[in-house]
Formats: sequence, C-alpha cells, structure tokens
Amino acid sequence: MISKILEKARKGITLSKRDALTLLEVDQASPLFYELIATANELTRKTYHNQGYVFAQIGLNAEPCSKNCKFCSLGSTHYAVDCEWKKSEEAIQQEIQQFVESGVHDIFLMITADYDLEAFLDIVSQARQLIPEHIRLVVNMGDFDRDIGRRLKKIGVTGVYHIHRLREGIDTDILPEVRIATLDAIKEVGLELYYCVEPIGPEHTYDEIADEMIRARDYGVSVMAVMRRVPIAGTPLYDKGQITSLELTKIAAVARLVSEPTRAMNAHEVTPMSLIAGVNQLYGEYGANPRDIHTHTEEGRGYSINQIKVLLTDAEYQIS
Ligand code: SF4
Repeated sequence: MISKILEKARKGITLSKRDALTLLEVDQASPLFYELIATANELTRKTYHNQGYVFAQIGLNAEPCSKNCKFCSLGSTHYAVDCEWKKSEEAIQQEIQQFVESGVHDIFLMITADYDLEAFLDIVSQARQLIPEHIRLVVNMGDFDRDIGRRLKKIGVTGVYHIHRLREGIDTDILPEVRIATLDAIKEVGLELYYCVEPIGPEHTYDEIADEMIRARDYGVSVMAVMRRVPIAGTPLYDKGQITSLELTKIAAVARLVSEPTRAMNAHEVTPMSLIAGVNQLYGEYGANPRDIHTHTEEGRGYSINQIKVLLTDAEYQIS
C-alpha cells in the first residue's frame, strides 16, 4: 500500500487525502518510514536539481498583537517577552545589506498584524531599492485585500508567506474566512505563495494536517513548509508540549509529496535530519520571532545565515 502511494508520487500522480493520511500514519520505527523519506529526498533532489535555498527573515517589531494567537509570544493577552520595540529604518537597511552580501536567495520582512500598513509599505519599498532583482522579496504580514496585494506587487514584492493556521479561529482571534480571502487575493494578483502547515502540536490530528497540505497544493504553492509549535512559557498552549524532530521530519516528507511545491520545501524550526527527507530550504532568522522570548532571535533560537549554509552544504545541497 505505502509502496504504491510512493510510486504514484514518483510518477507525478497527485496524491489523495487518503494517501496523505496513510503516509502520515507510517510508524517512524518501521522500514516504511525510510521508504517515505527516501522518496521525498529523491524527488526534491531531482526536481529542484539539488539546489538548496537560504532564506533570511527579519521580524521588524516586538509589540503586543491583538490577534492573540495562543502559541505566540507576542499575543497581547499573554505577551511573553520583556520589552517592546520597532526596528529603525537604518537598522533594517543595514541588515538587508548584510543579507545581500552573504548571498541569500529570498529576503522576508515580517510584522505583527497591527503594524501601520503605510509605514510598512514605505519600508518595503525602500528595501527593494537595496535588493538586486535576482533576490526575491517576501512579506509576512496581517491579512489584506486585492488592492493591497497589487500595491505590494507594484513596489517590488515578489511573494507572501501566508497561511490558514491549524485551528485558525480557535487558537487565534482571526476568522478562517479572513485568512482564506487573503490567500485568494495573493493568488489573484499573482504573488508567489509561501505556505506552511503550522504550528503543529501533539494535539493536532493527521486529518487537520492533511487538509492544510492539500490547501497549499490547491493554491499552487511555490515554497512549502511544515513547522512544529515551540512551547513558550506563558502562552496558553504551552502545556500541550511539542512533537518530536522525527515526527516533524515525517510530516515534512509527506508534505513534500502531497503539496507538490514547485521550488522548495522547508521544515521549521531548523531540523537537520529533515534534510534527508525532501527539505532543501532553511531560514536564518533575525529580530522579533513569535517562537522566542528573546526579541532579537539571532541571539536566541534563530539560526544565522552562515549556520544555514553549513547545514545545507553538509547535506550535499548546492547553494550557489
Ligand atoms: S502569530 Fe502573528 S498574528 Fe498571531 S499573535 Fe503572533 S504576531 Fe499576532
């Protein structure tokens, strides 16, 4: 059964939700687990020509956010960090220049949902002037409509990280339909979509996880990811705990096969073993981070660009 599903994936036949569930149910202690990760690895290396990708993200502000995601250190009802700040334009520009010099492929600018939109568009526009055309510029922001999508495109944004989170509207103060309307806007205006099944915790069912993998595929995802929730003390979901690296690696392999991303696959936070399971892209992280109590994550949980490069080349990906 598993071998047949993997053969379908190798032939480029779209997998069903039932197929996704069967793969997700594979026991990590069984030989089938290795068949699964070998297939995801093979497809990534062949389809993407063994190219590895180094992405860099800056969190532009550490401020209480009204959307109150129950896993996020920045939610206003449970703000778990001990300061508030916004990065200055100079500091952002300096970091961007360093990213460009260190040869990253894509640069992400991330804000909390309440950040002033016009101020953000100005920052993005200035950032684009510093970034050569061959480097993609991606935003990770709150929900928006088609008009904002068109404005983002006009100022040189190439893509958007946007998702319908697991238990959106239950573990967050955002209606699922609002997230979906933004995904529709991204598709309609022709921005590249970066999707992720997140934040995965032990309480999430494979059914919920498979639904998000298929949603990503239906939107024609370019860069796909899976992310496990990091339990942050003080956040409402802290007690639910965390899935293992092995489980995350399995979910990454299944997402690689089910979602059919056209360019890259990521598992987050950085999980080296996932690099033999179809993952060919990692993030260096700077500034604020919803998974860290350190508001300058490069001094906390975040990996640096150099560390990412070492991991990808050590896994025999080419990153030129
Ligand atoms: S995850 Fe984003 S939207 Fe949710 S509370 Fe944190 S900053 Fe706000």
